[in-house]
Amino acid sequence: MALKVTRREADYIKIVYEKSVEEQHKVTSGIIAKEVGVRTPTVIEVLWKLKKRKLVSIGKAGEITLTKRGLKLAEVIIRKHRILETYFVKELNLDLTFACKESSNVDYLLSSEVMDKLCSILGNPCNCPHGKPIPYKGKINEV
Ligand SMILES: [Zn+2]
Repeated sequence: MALKVTRREADYIKIVYEKSVEEQHKVTSGIIAKEVGVRTPTVIEVLWKLKKRKLVSIGKAGEITLTKRGLKLAEVIIRKHRILETYFVKELNLDLTFACKESSNVDYLLSSEVMDKLCSILGNPCNCPHGKPIPYKGKINEV
């Protein structure tokens, strides 16, 4: 996907995906603020940018959900994050916390083409080292 986001936007999208889609929890700006360690007004500012780009919806009670477009972007970034993390842990023997941090520094920047190749070298794993599912397995382009 050619959609460009900033590091902060990618982080927020991943949090909304993990909390709302994977854990089925209600997500608010306060929850994101707590997760990333910034003040709520800062989170709201970024969320409005994401809303303007039609990546998230903000409900009346402040509930944040991903739009169809946002969901697809989240899956793409999460996929990259988890493939990289798998590589760092399996092949480089990095500690999982460190691997996760390093992945977040670059996951949103790398192309799907490179990540698909890395994924296939790793044997198209189903889960990341955290045990969470890697979206699309080896076939992202079919989506
Ligand atoms: Zn991680």
